[in-house]
Amino acid sequence: RIVYVNGEWLPESEAKVSVFDRGFLFADAVYEVTAVIGGKLIDYAGHAARLKRSLGELGIASPVDADQLLDIHRQIVARNNLGEGLIYLQISRGPADRDFTFPKNPAPTIVLFTQPKAVLANPKVETGISVVTLPDQRWARRDIKTVQLLYPSMAKMEAMRQNADDAWLVEDGFITEASSANAHIVTAEGKLITRSLTSAILHGITRASVLDLARGAGVPVEERAFTLEEARQAAEAFITSASSFVMPVTRIDGEPVGNGKPGPVTQRLRASYIENRLAGAI
Ligand code: PLP
Repeated sequence: RIVYVNGEWLPESEAKVSVFDRGFLFADAVYEVTAVIGGKLIDYAGHAARLKRSLGELGIASPVDADQLLDIHRQIVARNNLGEGLIYLQISRGPADRDFTFPKNPAPTIVLFTQPKAVLANPKVETGISVVTLPDQRWARRDIKTVQLLYPSMAKMEAMRQNADDAWLVEDGFITEASSANAHIVTAEGKLITRSLTSAILHGITRASVLDLARGAGVPVEERAFTLEEARQAAEAFITSASSFVMPVTRIDGEPVGNGKPGPVTQRLRASYIENRLAGAI
């Protein structure tokens, strides 16, 4: 693979980041994952906007401007001949002598690489995924997309250990989100319920697009926290993320959701997300 590091295009074996990088030592870094289909970027504007916001919240100056950022995304697709997959981008505060306080004149580190992946033809779409619920033990600023991903990683490992595909995280009896995706349910009345945008969850780009499409299609949307009990009683459940788009959730803690099959609202939203975002890909 050809990766991008601080203005240079290099084979991955030649790419280097300092051992003093604060991304490595303090998880002092933010990231974005953007899907690529047919060599084009899906929902790029949303990811670029959220990156800017995450950097702003942490006071990290972007090492590239908006035009450069888009150019780098396009070049990494072309240089790796990426048809379908993901682009990972990370910006850290950069290297500094190890200290809890931020360096005075940081030089942020920017890294991008690609991961080929069958995003559309995901076999899990047919069956849906199973999730187990686990306590949400992440920090309280989940609206910032930081690389502090140890707990989500542990939660996903625990889900695997329990023969499930993913974890839904629970705080005070309410579902926050999945380990790396937003969580949604559809009630028996056909209402889509999804947690509102606070610092308790990441403000998903796919979530925002899917809610727009749902509203446009006349699906009633309620943005509020829902309980684990409501999720258990739901007719349908699904997750959204750049890497899974809209993915049905058909089991929660071993119990089937609705009839245990991907639901009609979920399937319609997946199809409409794919159609709409492919048409708008750049
Ligand atoms: N929530 C969390 C915790 C995530 O890590 C992610 C994506 O990585 C999402 C939600 C979904 O966000 P997006 O749709 O922007 O990929």
